[in-house]
Amino acid sequence: MTIGWTRKDSRPCSMSRNPRSARLPYSTQWLTAEDFAAVDASMRGEWLTTGPAVEAFESALADRAGVADAAVLSSGTAALHAAYAASGLNPGDEIITSPLTFVATASCALMLGATVRFADIEPDTGTLDASAAAEQIGPRTRIVVPVDYAGHPADYAALEELRDKARKLAVIADAAHSFGASFEGRPVGSLADATALSFHPVKAITTAEGGAVLTDNAETTRRVRTFRSHGIVREPSEQRNTGPEWYYEVQSLGFNYRMPDVLCALGQSQLAKLDEYIERRRTLAARYTEALGAEEALELPTERENVRSSWHLYVVRVREAARRDEFLGYLRSRGLGAQVHYLPVYRHPLFADLGYRSGSCPAAEDFFSRAVSIPLFPRMSDADVGYVIDVVSEGCRAML
Ligand SMILES: *Cc1c(COP(=O)(O)O)cnc(C)c1O
Repeated sequence: MTIGWTRKDSRPCSMSRNPRSARLPYSTQWLTAEDFAAVDASMRGEWLTTGPAVEAFESALADRAGVADAAVLSSGTAALHAAYAASGLNPGDEIITSPLTFVATASCALMLGATVRFADIEPDTGTLDASAAAEQIGPRTRIVVPVDYAGHPADYAALEELRDKARKLAVIADAAHSFGASFEGRPVGSLADATALSFHPVKAITTAEGGAVLTDNAETTRRVRTFRSHGIVREPSEQRNTGPEWYYEVQSLGFNYRMPDVLCALGQSQLAKLDEYIERRRTLAARYTEALGAEEALELPTERENVRSSWHLYVVRVREAARRDEFLGYLRSRGLGAQVHYLPVYRHPLFADLGYRSGSCPAAEDFFSRAVSIPLFPRMSDADVGYVIDVVSEGCRAML
């Protein structure tokens, strides 16, 4: 396989992109000839949606993560929604998660009539603090949802302990950032009762839109597959009533959350490159850490010893929160698609309207107030990385 950055002609990815977008976005996809061929072949086949590429991609995902099965869905959000529903989350139940995440981690629980309790993060990694989560557990708590922020797996050893002490508590990982990462040598996907992935273009591999639920639990997978297709049950042995050949029945509420065959073909082709993409991300992150280590105005991200991060994001934290937006504005003025990951979820008006209040998670507040994600994606050339380092260093001098 030819990987672009080794080519002599490799150049910053900006040139062919939408001129209104940044020269270097914080992340973007990398599609190659293999991907185009896979999509082309699939489109010429008999199936556009549910077909053989779905099952093939699902079993390849499960193999990669070392779990029994995977169910693909139309997005990472659909994967979270289905995983929560499959674990029996009902109105009045509660989930516990980190506020330092994309809104879907929390909103999918609201969709099911459940309540979200936010627990604080660990300041070094930005991932859910298991002891803070423990304090939030109540009689209606059903699920704890760690988010592998920036690709760094949460502390699954502590979360496992928490789950085993509580009664009827599931750990469902939001691993939208961390596919390809590992914790104590165990791959993401095998670390929780169920794991949700996203294949949005900024993530480790892409299917344009798509997601998956990985689990060892066959009943969970069955429920996710039913949920993604209207609650329809076709298998006669699972039907409540008996009927002729054409008969199918709906036993529960579901959506159309299916992932098309064409996109599964793309996913399978992308999956073959996951390890190389992660390796490239790790190399680039190491380069940033080496080059920016001397910048006193910045706190750089770290990787714990028992973790192999997938480096979805490279999040620097400015020392002085009051200077963050100016610094970010400077980076943008120089063509870097710098971004903030994330506004604590409870600060969104939707959550404020529901009565959520800021201030309960001081570590997440502090993390957010100083965070700036700088460009990091495998297709970046070495020259791109050098440019980012120069601009960030100049920004420190000019702004901080
Ligand atoms: C991307 C993302 C999601 C949602 O995935 P989509 O595929 O965009 O629906 C959920 N959680 C986190 C942390 C994400 O980054």
